[in-house]
Amino acid sequence: GSMFADVPEAPKDPILGLNELFREDPSPLKVNLGVGAYRTDANRPYVLGVVKRIEQELASNPNTLHEYLPIEGLSDFRTLAAQLVFGENSGALREQRVVTLQSLSGTGSLRLVAEFLGKFYHRGAICYLPRPTWGNHWNIFPRAGIECREYRYYKDKTHDVDIAGLLEDLAAAPPRSIVLLHACAHNPTGADPTPSQWQQILDVVRERQHFPLFDCAYQGFASGSFERDAMAIRLFERATLPAPETNSASGRPLEMAVTQSFAKNMGLYGERVGAAHIVCAVPSVTKPVLSQMKQIARALYSSPPAHGATVAARILKDPLLFAEWETEVQVMSSRILRMRRELFDALRENGTPGTWDHILTQIGMFSFLGLSADQCLYLRDKYHIYMTTNGRISMAGLTSDKVQYLADAIKDAVT
Ligand code: PMP
Repeated sequence: GSMFADVPEAPKDPILGLNELFREDPSPLKVNLGVGAYRTDANRPYVLGVVKRIEQELASNPNTLHEYLPIEGLSDFRTLAAQLVFGENSGALREQRVVTLQSLSGTGSLRLVAEFLGKFYHRGAICYLPRPTWGNHWNIFPRAGIECREYRYYKDKTHDVDIAGLLEDLAAAPPRSIVLLHACAHNPTGADPTPSQWQQILDVVRERQHFPLFDCAYQGFASGSFERDAMAIRLFERATLPAPETNSASGRPLEMAVTQSFAKNMGLYGERVGAAHIVCAVPSVTKPVLSQMKQIARALYSSPPAHGATVAARILKDPLLFAEWETEVQVMSSRILRMRRELFDALRENGTPGTWDHILTQIGMFSFLGLSADQCLYLRDKYHIYMTTNGRISMAGLTSDKVQYLADAIKDAVT
């Protein structure tokens, strides 16, 4: 007998488990629309040209070492990653109110921030997650001891942000709750608030003194512009809390956190390149906050990986490499847009019942088709088309040669 004889088997992860099922399917027709990774139109993983060149340089340079990074990560990377997300004119950066640690891509950065908030934010604070959200949020926060609840985010009927429900739920949440927001390209719905809706969200966050936590996993991927995709974060970064007394001077800056992933926009998925940023109201607290974040990281993984952050820092530092990167991000985001258009046209041409405009209006890597779980399983069983059972397809996993097949299968599933 084993000490572990009673260990029950855990359920497969709904997203990563899908890849396993896909690999096991012998059908030549199979299509994987579950992956959250970019594929070329030939259905190949894509290494950015600029990344490839820097890696060749690093490999041929005899001075490239494999020393540990400091707990907080590569210094240049931290500075440049913060500038990318908050912008050149960020008041918080200028006033040195931002604590940044390089961490393990988006997921590790989320866990780090969650651990920090669990330990140092007010006791019993609840984290509000959008319904629906990226499933891993529901693993990360409870494991850091933070209770999660949902706020309404999406209206199935209109395929759009349920702004009234969202504002109502955030207004009804206990004051000083943690509110998780997707900075852009909301996963899984592909529906983002408009600029004026972001302003309304900011108003209720200020009013209730909530702590916003921006999960930023797709900067540049949504619109092709790093600036546009960081718009919501920068709007919040500039905000102050309402003044406590009507006559007093302006309130203190809003405190918030941002977790940043370079998995998608640099195609560095497996290298785990990301950062956790805590925006503080005053510079004097950054030193103790950094020291505590470092202690948490030390116990979790000691120090972050060096390779990917070294590549990323070079791209972010050199204006020519940066421009090249931006072009490649635009190539990726425009292929996704083209797939949206092709799928929409194919569904219309084959007369699939229902409205499919949301495929065009949704943004980012995913489209939330509006299929039931039964319809998704039908597509899997009959057509070998793999997607999560919430009806989310990865537009980045779709290729021109599969569009007609997918459209016809969807038509069959919904009629
Ligand atoms: N947040 C969201 C919303 C995501 O979609 C992802 C990637 N699937 C992540 C965070 C983190 O991914 P990673 O840890 O690979 O950076």
